[in-house]
Amino acid sequence: MGLRQRQEAPQETDADVDGQLNQEEDTECKTKECQRHGGHKESHECCRRFLGSPTWKCITLSVVGFTPAFGVVVAVPEMLGGWGLQPWTFSWLMNYCFAAWLATQFLYNFMACQWTDAGNCKTIKPTQEVTGQFQMGGEESGLDLLYAPNWCAKCSHWKPPRSHHCSTCNRCVLRMDHHCPFTGNCIGARNHGHFILFYFFAVVGLTYSLVLSVGAAYSTDHISKWHDLIIPKFKEHNDLLKQHFMTGLIGVAISIMIEVATKKGIAVLVQLVATTLAFIPVLGTGFPACQMAWGNVTTMERMFPMKEYVQLKDKVYCPLGPGFYRHSGQENLKTIMGPRWWMRLLLPLPGQVDMDHMLMPPPSGEGIAALKERIQQVQTDGVKQEVKNCQELGFDPGPRSDQTV
Ligand SMILES: [Zn+2]
Ligand SMILES: [Zn+2]
Repeated sequence: MGLRQRQEAPQETDADVDGQLNQEEDTECKTKECQRHGGHKESHECCRRFLGSPTWKCITLSVVGFTPAFGVVVAVPEMLGGWGLQPWTFSWLMNYCFAAWLATQFLYNFMACQWTDAGNCKTIKPTQEVTGQFQMGGEESGLDLLYAPNWCAKCSHWKPPRSHHCSTCNRCVLRMDHHCPFTGNCIGARNHGHFILFYFFAVVGLTYSLVLSVGAAYSTDHISKWHDLIIPKFKEHNDLLKQHFMTGLIGVAISIMIEVATKKGIAVLVQLVATTLAFIPVLGTGFPACQMAWGNVTTMERMFPMKEYVQLKDKVYCPLGPGFYRHSGQENLKTIMGPRWWMRLLLPLPGQVDMDHMLMPPPSGEGIAALKERIQQVQTDGVKQEVKNCQELGFDPGPRSDQTV
């Protein structure tokens, strides 16, 4: 039948065997309910497929794209009018072009992130095809090591370093960061640059939109109108609060919104509300995403640390910590953005990442030093712990090509 026998279990390991190592790296549902009820699991499967489908991508694009699209087409001319700028004057044009550029950069990078292949692993062959092992970087520092073989039974191929199986996309993704529900796509080696860029332009664009809309709402002539507008409203609604148990702040907010809509136009109000609402998810999710990119740690490595192993010697494996690839923040961002990073900041351009770098990520100086220390330790003191098989460590050593029966 051509069944393939699994590789023999290693007798010794240098890896710590703890609970984390047995966690699933992909997002398979492991709840008891799902395991008990096949139908429930099927509905989860269905949801997962939908969250990666073109329909979902179009839905999220129309929601996320509303603020920049509405802003440029409708609200920006209104808001610039609110600031007292005459149409087609130099300063009006400069502001309008800046807003249009921010919106274009944001929308381009968001859509590119949605539709770019995050990193297909299917055709990537391991350095050692017999054992399925990939070469580790850092040869110039004297390390000549291989990663532990990591087989994906679902895709039937060896996983390159830092790759993971995504159950939403149903395939392995090279240098997988995470599956992003907002874009409906995985974030991996090929689209991580677009992902960082759309967050960057979202923050800059929303800040600009907030300044324009708040300014247009209150400061047609003088900034002191802030005071004249808000203080009487508070007084008025404090009275209402006593009489009708109304929440003063909500009352103030509603009456200010009505005033903005009637005096400055509905477009200014819509833009103000949309910008404020958009800021919440952008700051909430964008800040940790940029922080991890700066430190060259993927979300998967942060969530499931010590899941990747390097082979120190035959059947002896050492787990790699989440800071193993951390270089300077600038260098880390350049790796994600590719050599044309500065042009991508100016123009909507596709990313060109160095795939050799992605397949053989160079370890940091600290990572190399720690690994050398561990090799020395194994040579002098032996291994720390032993396990029965690689599955206990959280990876599948895969089929052995020389044992086909
Ligand atoms: Zn896979
Ligand atoms: Zn995915």
